[in-house]
Amino acid sequence: MKRDSNNELVTAITSKWPFLQQTEFRITPHLDGEVSDNAHNFVINVDRSSAAIDSTLGYAKRRADLGSTTLVLTSSKYEAQIVVESAKGRFGPDFALDLTDKISIKDMATLGSRRKLLVCTPEILHRKILPDSFRFTRLLEAVSTVSLFDLSNFRGVLGSHLYYILKRLSIAKEGNHLSFNATAIYLGNARSLFGAIIDSDPAECRELWMIDGIEIPCLTASVEAANAVASPSFLAASIGVQLEMSGLRTTILTSSRSQAEVIAETITSISSHNGGTEIKPLLYRGGYIDEVRDDIREEIASGEFKVAVATSQLSLELPQSDLVIFLGIPKTIAQIRRNISTLSTNDSALVLLPDSDNLDQWVVRNINSINDRRDESAAINPQNPKVMEYQLLCAADETSIKPEQLSHDHQHQRLIQDLLEENQQQGKLVATKSGHLFVGALRPSKVGGLRGGDSVTYTLITDDGELLEIFDSSRLFFNFYLGAIHRHRGRRHRGTDIDFDQRLVYCASESSKRYTKPRIESQYSLLKTIEKDESLEGLVSLSEIEVTEFFTGYDLLQGRGEVVEFIDYELEPKTLQSEALLFAIPFYLFSEIPISEYGAALHAFEHATIGVLSTVSLCDRWDVGGVSFVINGPYNNGVDIITNGGAIAIYDGSDGGSGVARASFARWRELLATSIQNLEECPCEDGCPSCIVSPKCGNSNSLLSKEHGRTLGGNLRGWLHAGR
Ligand SMILES: [Zn+2]
Ligand SMILES: [Zn+2]
Repeated sequence: MKRDSNNELVTAITSKWPFLQQTEFRITPHLDGEVSDNAHNFVINVDRSSAAIDSTLGYAKRRADLGSTTLVLTSSKYEAQIVVESAKGRFGPDFALDLTDKISIKDMATLGSRRKLLVCTPEILHRKILPDSFRFTRLLEAVSTVSLFDLSNFRGVLGSHLYYILKRLSIAKEGNHLSFNATAIYLGNARSLFGAIIDSDPAECRELWMIDGIEIPCLTASVEAANAVASPSFLAASIGVQLEMSGLRTTILTSSRSQAEVIAETITSISSHNGGTEIKPLLYRGGYIDEVRDDIREEIASGEFKVAVATSQLSLELPQSDLVIFLGIPKTIAQIRRNISTLSTNDSALVLLPDSDNLDQWVVRNINSINDRRDESAAINPQNPKVMEYQLLCAADETSIKPEQLSHDHQHQRLIQDLLEENQQQGKLVATKSGHLFVGALRPSKVGGLRGGDSVTYTLITDDGELLEIFDSSRLFFNFYLGAIHRHRGRRHRGTDIDFDQRLVYCASESSKRYTKPRIESQYSLLKTIEKDESLEGLVSLSEIEVTEFFTGYDLLQGRGEVVEFIDYELEPKTLQSEALLFAIPFYLFSEIPISEYGAALHAFEHATIGVLSTVSLCDRWDVGGVSFVINGPYNNGVDIITNGGAIAIYDGSDGGSGVARASFARWRELLATSIQNLEECPCEDGCPSCIVSPKCGNSNSLLSKEHGRTLGGNLRGWLHAGR
């Protein structure tokens, strides 16, 4: 029965669009291990959010029956709401309390000490509970278990802060034992990330599996095949309209907000041209203001829509559907699996339509190997100097602290000690018998955020005062500079003014079909080596890098990338110090490449590698940057490793480092192998967006050579084999 129904669906689609080729998407079931009532320090791998909620609540209930209170940490207020609502539904209204709710500190403290399940974000602990822990004595005494909901959300900068927040929580509990557990949804290194966050040896943490598995038909086509009939986005919209007429539900997932806007417009216009009723799909993407978001959630709850268009991060809030179309493939394998597990049943089918992006093309060409491929890893970096210093001040503001309370690692303790003394000299801390204590006037936890960047948000507003979106200040450079054209719920706007004091970007309606792209130039210097891989002459390392970015203006484009005009204007440059995965490549690996082409070979290889970076590390293109350069003569810019040759650095885009470079360093062989494979398999001649042309290149993709990049890749592969 089951196979019949989705086979019919597949037949109906392939008879209309015969160039779609059929294969199978499979997730192997993996069920292993049980949680005992008094287990501690374990992580459970599950396949979707609902399973993560089930296991979190199941264990919390058993702890509650034994008289213990569990504190669940979620990465968003919305997730906190969902966990609390599910808990109340199952165990009664007095079981759980949402600490992210707008309630007074007094109610939080008294109600919180009576409930068995407390749910909040790291921010609530950091900003409200820990700085005023004397008000929460009973609540803190009651909590004996901390449960991290959906571990991969606690990677990077947020996870690095969380490391210290959990330490501060342990300090506030005055040595009373805390046990930890976590849920992870398709995370390649759940146990090691969990161990890193709770500062415990991963070997001493348990890992359990609860993956149900799924097997559904999957249709796919290359960009060329889809472009030969229409375009991938037109195709996705057409399939959605077709299924709607048969009463079936389709979910179309896109990789960008602007693409979601385009698809929704296309669906409406196709359906009205067909003479049928005009279809207004449910359009759901990030960046909306709260009111709009609430409206959309109501529409989702009503379940009446037949076509949904969403950016893939938000798919987890959508119901299951008959057909799932990926337009542009999610940038990590974990996210592909997560979306499919959430949105499909064994009766559904799947369509994968790649973008002209490296990774998409690679996935479609290797669709069969995806089934067996490992999920990506995530990392944190508690030694990020910005995070470390900020959190030390917060901890020292709560009580006097010593390095050994904040880390088990001796090297980390020394770094903490240095920072404590430095801040003492600056007069922010004083040394007491029991450690260092903060003496400044402003409480550090009340200022500054935990999410990386500068945590400053801007609001996009029309000249008539209508609020459109809220976005992170880092997007000013890329999406919301003066003159930038953007889409919002089917309308186009162009930035007309920026008020840096009020943090407002004004915009006006835009009627032309043109679009804009920023030009950004960067300067780099390598500071020091953090860690080397001792094989292969130590030429692969994790290094410290300083990057300054200059916004020099933007291009106004039309059609498929034709530049109409360059508009010259500058924004304040940004400097960051972070961590880079550094490949230093000796000159003999450039054999068969003319000296004048070293730069083009390196640049091509750099793009190819960044393009597939998310096969090893959970990240997206906003998380990282890259640079490559030729080395003439001895090279000792802080990294004394090489004379003549070249280097490629792939660095974390957030100040202090977010852990992406670290996670990639741990799997760099796999990364290089995938990148070389992708360069060799791409059928284009001189390079295309599927192999070496990057949407984010600061040099507008100039000085790129696919031929020489491929030769370099081949030489590197020989080197990898020889040095193994
Ligand atoms: Zn290509
Ligand atoms: Zn580039």
